[in-house]
Amino acid sequence: MLIASILRRKGSTVVSVAPEATVTHLLTELSRHNIGAAVVAREDTLIGIVSERDVVRGLGRHGPGLLSVPIADIMTTDVYTCTTEDTIEEVSEAMTLRRFRHVPVLSEGKLAGIVSIGDVVKSRLRALEEDKAQLESYIHGT
Ligand code: AMP
Repeated sequence: MLIASILRRKGSTVVSVAPEATVTHLLTELSRHNIGAAVVAREDTLIGIVSERDVVRGLGRHGPGLLSVPIADIMTTDVYTCTTEDTIEEVSEAMTLRRFRHVPVLSEGKLAGIVSIGDVVKSRLRALEEDKAQLESYIHGT
């Protein structure tokens, strides 16, 4: 199954923040949208990703002053991305091996959405349920 099938269900909304914005702004956005990570973009170009884990690490480094630090200081710039044509299995494997839970999706070089580990798990469970239903109907001849 392709990443495109996840985006068809969840849509292409990507919450993005500017690198100059503060960590306070990031936390407001994460909480307003009830998400764990945001992409960092400048004029529609992806330049990083920042997640709640970066905030936790940042607290260790900057202490309480973290809230006024620019997002650029805590984001990850070496972003792993996928395309709508990649398979869910490939992306799921990369998330497990590289230990992150969010992957921005590109289509023709442009941001087309973001998938989280929750989206991947949900989709794999749905596929397993469908396989099970098909096998049961095959066994019972229905
Ligand atoms: P997460 O598990 O997504 O909360 O992120 C854990 C760490 O990996 C944080 O330092 C993130 O900035 C970083 N990270 C998250 N997603 C990606 C990604 N797609 N590519 C590279 N780093 C990422």
